[in-house]
Amino acid sequence: MLAKDCKRKVILTGDRPTGKLHLGHFVGSLQRRVELQNSGQFDEINILVADDQALTDNWDNPKKVRDNIIEVTLDYLSAGIDPDKSFICIQSGIPALHALTFYYMNLVTTQRLSRNPTVKSEMLMRGFNGSESEDDNVAGLPAGFFTYPVSQTADITAFKATTVPAGEDQMPMIEQAREIAHRFNTIYKCDVLVEPDILIPENAAQRRLPGIDGKAKMSKSLGNGIFLSDDAATVKKKVMSMYTDPTHINVADPGHVEGNMVFTYLDAFLRDDSQFADYLPDYKNLEEMKEHYQRGGLGDMKCKKFLLKVMEDLLQPIRENRAKWETNINDVYDILKAGTDHAVQVTNQTLHECRDAMRINYFDDKDAMVKSWESWLNESHTKN
Ligand code: ATP
Ligand code: MG
Repeated sequence: MLAKDCKRKVILTGDRPTGKLHLGHFVGSLQRRVELQNSGQFDEINILVADDQALTDNWDNPKKVRDNIIEVTLDYLSAGIDPDKSFICIQSGIPALHALTFYYMNLVTTQRLSRNPTVKSEMLMRGFNGSESEDDNVAGLPAGFFTYPVSQTADITAFKATTVPAGEDQMPMIEQAREIAHRFNTIYKCDVLVEPDILIPENAAQRRLPGIDGKAKMSKSLGNGIFLSDDAATVKKKVMSMYTDPTHINVADPGHVEGNMVFTYLDAFLRDDSQFADYLPDYKNLEEMKEHYQRGGLGDMKCKKFLLKVMEDLLQPIRENRAKWETNINDVYDILKAGTDHAVQVTNQTLHECRDAMRINYFDDKDAMVKSWESWLNESHTKN
């Protein structure tokens, strides 16, 4: 058996508490987490509410971050994260992550960080153009934001995660995490850190779900999302306003399915063909429906009504679960506290091993340290 096969299988994944979770989070990562959790194939699952990372572009609004911790946690629990099988923890309550970030900063260059395509596009989106600004860094690039992939590396490696289920935008982050872990192990001649693997969705439409306007990735920051906690009326309004095919003006016109959000969402969310039998028996499967749309003769309204049924099959149970959890914030608090306490233990152990490997574990063993300093002084005196 390969050494790698003997490793504990550990998941670390998470979200920034910058808003409620949306369908992009669900297909990109959350539904996979629930599947993996229920597969019983993992030794440990940790889900991190990354509040420190959220502060890197919300430093002036910590209340927003604080309020969204409960929103994101309720979304997890409602979507099927089971506190008996997975830990949910809060990043800022885990001091070892900060210490590891500080050491890892030395193992990556600013040039390497500048090449990260996800950070580049996020900088553009936020107007962090890297210029000097007197105006409270409005246009400048905050060092914390620029280096967040390093802190994310600390998050992943501190838990010795082998697997990170995430959307496609996270690929450069995991690549960077692997590089830093490899560099640490090489420089300090150890095998303390584990190089993680990303697990992106097999379904192409789920890897980077576009917003309902069809323009960019569905994102909390862009206001183009359908949220897991949206009520049925809001979901209906959003589905009905979805971007389709501007060339498909009359029902009889041939239509395009590529770039048409209704079909992209059907690709991402259709559970199985039984949903056709239940809600749109004119077709046996999505292929048949797409062919008709492309040929002409199938109207957008009919397609949207079907998509709405598919969405509600998914969202209604999540909404019901949320209503229950919302009446029980006391328990949610305890879940977060227990997950964070566990995370503190695990990550302190990794930090300890890292400091050991770096030989900066001064206070572990007084006798050994005193001997080491004495022999150094003897050596240097002899030399002089
Ligand atoms: P923000 O705008 O604050 O960055 P976000 O919507 O990009 O928020 P994150 O918290 O950065 O969400 O992402 C959390 C996880 O959800 C990551 O694994 C990311 O890949 C995944 N994810 C987010 N948006 C999408 C999307 N539209 N499609 C697929 N996966 C997504
Ligand atoms: Mg993001």
